Amino acid sequence: MRAADIASDITEVLVTEEQIHAKLDEIAAHVAEDYRDKDLLLVGVLKGAVMVMADFSRALPAVVPMDWMAVSSYGAGTRSSGVVQIRKDLDADLTGRHVLIVEDIIDSGLTLSWLLENFASRGAASVEVFALLRKPDAAKVEVPCRYIGFDIPNEFVIGYGLDYAEKYRNLRDVAILAPHVYA
Ligand code: 5GP
Ligand code: MG
Ligand code: MG
Repeated sequence: MRAADIASDITEVLVTEEQIHAKLDEIAAHVAEDYRDKDLLLVGVLKGAVMVMADFSRALPAVVPMDWMAVSSYGAGTRSSGVVQIRKDLDADLTGRHVLIVEDIIDSGLTLSWLLENFASRGAASVEVFALLRKPDAAKVEVPCRYIGFDIPNEFVIGYGLDYAEKYRNLRDVAILAPHVYA
């Protein structure tokens, strides 16, 4: 837990805490306007979206309900296949609800595209996505994403909720993990 360890574990800070908070304020203003006449339900995808949800929900000007879902992606091998298993389901009934999925990052897009179909099949009135980060060069499927924080290069990033082996989630910035950490 020494500070010096962290500096040598990253190669570059991509998005600072200040940039994240400014962007969350901006997106919260859009969301507040877009859902002015609708009852919004925020759904966070565990665990990566915990920090985004905490700061984004508090940037909204009104009281808003939130729920959580935990999923894992299984495939032949180590790559995400889009075959998703629910680890923790929602508590809320989505029938007639206007859902905004809050995600940390869109990589291949496979997890989110599965979630979008799943939520639509539960009778949600609308389902939109807010992802703090997106890697355009990694997309395998196009995910209709209404709100995006930052497009980033196709590198493995950590911090602000994103982990490597459950570590680094509590870093305040988003940074590229140094290859020697996982090599
Ligand atoms: P996708 O299904 O879009 O390929 O990615 C699903 C999940 O993989 C993301 O929600 C995130 O939890 C994880 N993931 C994708 N890219 C990264 C990354 O660069 N760093 C970390 N820590 N997790 C990632
Ligand atoms: Mg995620
Ligand atoms: Mg992870």
